[in-house]
Amino acid sequence: MNTSPKENPTIMRGVIMHAPGDVRVEDRENPTIVEPTDAIIRLSASCICGSDLWPYRGAEDVDHQAMGHEYVGVVTEIGDDVKTVKVGDFVVGSFFASDNTCEICLAGYQTHCVHRQPGAPTGAQSEYARIPLADGTLVATPGQPDADLIPSLLAASDVLGTGWFAAVAAEAGPGKTVAVVGDGAVGLLGILAAHRLGAERIIAMSRHADRQALAREFGATDIVEERGDAGVERIKELTGGLGAHSVIEAVGTQESMMQAIRATRAGGHVGYVGVSHGVALDGVELFFSGVHLHGGPAPVRRFLPELIQLIWDREIDPGKVFDLTLPLEQAAEGYRAMDERRAIKVLLTT
Ligand SMILES: [Zn+2]
Ligand SMILES: [Zn+2]
Repeated sequence: MNTSPKENPTIMRGVIMHAPGDVRVEDRENPTIVEPTDAIIRLSASCICGSDLWPYRGAEDVDHQAMGHEYVGVVTEIGDDVKTVKVGDFVVGSFFASDNTCEICLAGYQTHCVHRQPGAPTGAQSEYARIPLADGTLVATPGQPDADLIPSLLAASDVLGTGWFAAVAAEAGPGKTVAVVGDGAVGLLGILAAHRLGAERIIAMSRHADRQALAREFGATDIVEERGDAGVERIKELTGGLGAHSVIEAVGTQESMMQAIRATRAGGHVGYVGVSHGVALDGVELFFSGVHLHGGPAPVRRFLPELIQLIWDREIDPGKVFDLTLPLEQAAEGYRAMDERRAIKVLLTT
């Protein structure tokens, strides 16, 4: 995590996924300003996302792709039209760049911005990244963060913001029982969000002791180990036969989505943020379920100012989801550890 200038500023190290299962750290060209609204940042740390495992496992096409979309760092260069972000600022952004001025952004749906584009098109598992629409996308921290805050700020870039959106979409709040399907970083931080939003009871669905422990630390009151229909039955037993008011879906498979919908009471809300892979909903079942469904790619940018402040004030510590730290050069081992579920989330030091 150093921010000193490098000897050769035209070459950096970065992760390329050549094909499923084939991750390499290579010399790459340093990104440069392309559009006048761009900024270049020096990554202070990087990380691997659960969603990076879809192409890694061959569930999505991948061909020599620069990886990484979660980032924090120091601005090293700005385009001529960048007004609010300055060189030297420590910034957090989201996995989609947005202008933060169009009607969709102003409504809080920056991931659907009319000018949306990848947040780090040059990849963020690398030493430097180009960030488009810098003024709309990046949020500066109140000052240079202490080193121990960097993992939490990095978590805000995606998994915290995504878990938070899921809890908001599921309408977690006082008096509510919230069930969380998925014990990856997003599900665990959905628990933290539901707790902060005042949920009365939070049921984590997990069968891994280490993840259950973190779930409890983040605010879970109950653990359900069963999955599928058995998991739904357990949730119903715990809620007087009704189902939860709010369910967070943080996986993206057919089984997890149906588990979420069926565990929700009539009139309740599902917040779904697991990237959907092969999910098909039966219209008749949906019709008679009486539940609200809301989700999709989380508008992390909406929540960044609030989340950064909570982290800055040490009110929350979402960085605890990083349970393995490796140098960027060992990114391939990081992918293996997450694929084999030996790690919840891997932080890569740059
Ligand atoms: Zn991610
Ligand atoms: Zn917009």
